[in-house]
Amino acid sequence: MTTLQAQLFTLLNEKEAEMIKIRRHLHRHPELSFQETETAKYIAAFYEGKDCVVKTQIGGQNGVLIDIKGGLPGPSLAIRADFDALPIKEATGLPFASENEGVMHACGHDGHTAYMMVLADCLIELKAQLPGSVRIIHQPAEEVPPGGSIGMIKAGCLEGIDNVFGIHVMSNMEVGTVGIHPGSVHTGRATFKVKLQGKGGHGSTPQDANDTIVAGAQFINAIQTIVSRRVSPFDSATVTIGSFDGKGSANVIKDSVTLEGDVRVMKEETRAVVEQQFKQILAGISDAFGLTYELDYANDYPVCVNDAEMTQLVTEAIRADNIPEVTRVFDCGPQTPSEDFAHYAEERPSCFFFVGAHTPGKPVYPHHHPHFDIDENCLLIAGKVMSSAVVHYLTEGGTHHE
Ligand code: MN
Repeated sequence: MTTLQAQLFTLLNEKEAEMIKIRRHLHRHPELSFQETETAKYIAAFYEGKDCVVKTQIGGQNGVLIDIKGGLPGPSLAIRADFDALPIKEATGLPFASENEGVMHACGHDGHTAYMMVLADCLIELKAQLPGSVRIIHQPAEEVPPGGSIGMIKAGCLEGIDNVFGIHVMSNMEVGTVGIHPGSVHTGRATFKVKLQGKGGHGSTPQDANDTIVAGAQFINAIQTIVSRRVSPFDSATVTIGSFDGKGSANVIKDSVTLEGDVRVMKEETRAVVEQQFKQILAGISDAFGLTYELDYANDYPVCVNDAEMTQLVTEAIRADNIPEVTRVFDCGPQTPSEDFAHYAEERPSCFFFVGAHTPGKPVYPHHHPHFDIDENCLLIAGKVMSSAVVHYLTEGGTHHE
């Protein structure tokens, strides 16, 4: 282990309590996507008086960028943490539970930001020894399309940057474990809203009406064949109807129904297959039942693809440093949610990986659940594994292009 790495670990150990304090402050004061003004101010204030360049309100959003220029020449790495919360009423009963009614850090972004601020502070303290530069991307609005990363990228957050790393804490992975996977690691996503328009009428005279409930049911069944009949068994996708507003009166034929849903794909090529077949079935069902329709089909987050070389570098870095709190580094395979980190990974060879946050013996609550919580031991682990990735990257692995 290099002296720099050892010094970073020592500093991180010393500052673990500060990470927890920051995480609890953020958890107590969550803010919704694109509205995180106080969180952004809190983050920026942390860096006041520190030896780094701070830029706020990136791209007209709440993003904060921190530039740490090392004392030695080398590549430029960006590391990203998101900081938005969700429209969920917290039910954890934690002493530091949300004081913002109906808003909750239920995805661990409070933990991402807490470990990142403290790691940044440590890197600033040791910057004279850094062979290259590190940019901290404090990103807003991960949860809501189009996602905060697009605005950050448009505002130039990747200018001069060679590669990007990011971490997500995971409530379904035991604390101490680190999951990492090359290639497609998060799904790409589309959402849709379909309005089928028929003709209402009396339940006793269906021949005079044009029933959209029956057509809607046929449509729901028909689109089940997209994944089963059009997507290769070696590939994967999901097509989910999450809302079908069939409610009405028992003896009334509804004149219109609206269906809403969600599509996930593991390869960008599959995205077009699903969309094409979805539209074909919708047009066909509407034609068969004599309906008209309105469709809003929106592709948002791309598939998040980890660069093989960067993934190998991060994996080997974490393994090489024998971090005492890390029990296992393993290939966790792809994860089904979507992540707007994907936009960075489209622009630069990147690696997004996972730090376990589940306390053994406790129930597992999924992300976005009112009982979601993280084991706070994951904060120090996230700080350490990311510091390993940063140091190994700067000293041996940067793909710097002049
Ligand atoms: Mn998240």
